[in-house]
Amino acid sequence: MRPVLRGGSPQASDYNNYRDSFPDLAGRLGMYCSYCERRIATQLAVEHIQPKGLPAYEHLIGRWDNFLLGCVNCNSTKGNKDVILADVLLPDRDNTAAAYVYTMDGGISVHGSLTEPQSAMAKLTLALVGLDKRASTVIDSNGQFVAIDRVAQRMETWLIAEESKHDLQANPSPAFRRQVARTATAHGFFSTWMTVFADDRAVRQLLIDEFLGTAVDCFDAVTTMPVSPRPATGLANGSKV
Ligand SMILES: [Zn+2]
Repeated sequence: MRPVLRGGSPQASDYNNYRDSFPDLAGRLGMYCSYCERRIATQLAVEHIQPKGLPAYEHLIGRWDNFLLGCVNCNSTKGNKDVILADVLLPDRDNTAAAYVYTMDGGISVHGSLTEPQSAMAKLTLALVGLDKRASTVIDSNGQFVAIDRVAQRMETWLIAEESKHDLQANPSPAFRRQVARTATAHGFFSTWMTVFADDRAVRQLLIDEFLGTAVDCFDAVTTMPVSPRPATGLANGSKV
């Protein structure tokens, strides 16, 4: 899961209407779901980490630090489930790049290097947004069945990344590497690309740089592998991984 840097709030106080934060968030984080990493051109929404539907978090409805971006699938699955910040891993405050393993069958699993408590948090995050399921069938807020599933899209992107890698081997130029990064940002699924290009430091660095809002300090500058724990973010319950 791509670790992101949302940065400080663009305005001095909370948003009167949280929806007004969308352009600011998209400008900082790119048009990607903060959880499943899909690139969504439309219907990407402001995601409240601590849900706006629970009275306990009513005061956070317009709070910048409580916002991420979410697709319909992740948003609908997450719904009004309570989120205890200390119990989950979050891409804006933990090094989620170090927490998960992505495989060519579209699966996401918890990284074996995590401690038991970290592993429990990592699993809880996946369950929160349904990324632990093979396929998701959700009904969105308009009562419509959402048929596009994230696993199939991740598998498809894996194949595109593999093809790009194959083409790059035939034409290993800096210009083609930049082309690969452009293809990646157009498709989304940062972690899938990072996994397929695990042994290509130059491409990995381009991915880190080109995916808008990636938390660069989560990666070692020399190896571009995730560092852990994440340097302090100044956010509550951060840097757990
Ligand atoms: Zn999503």
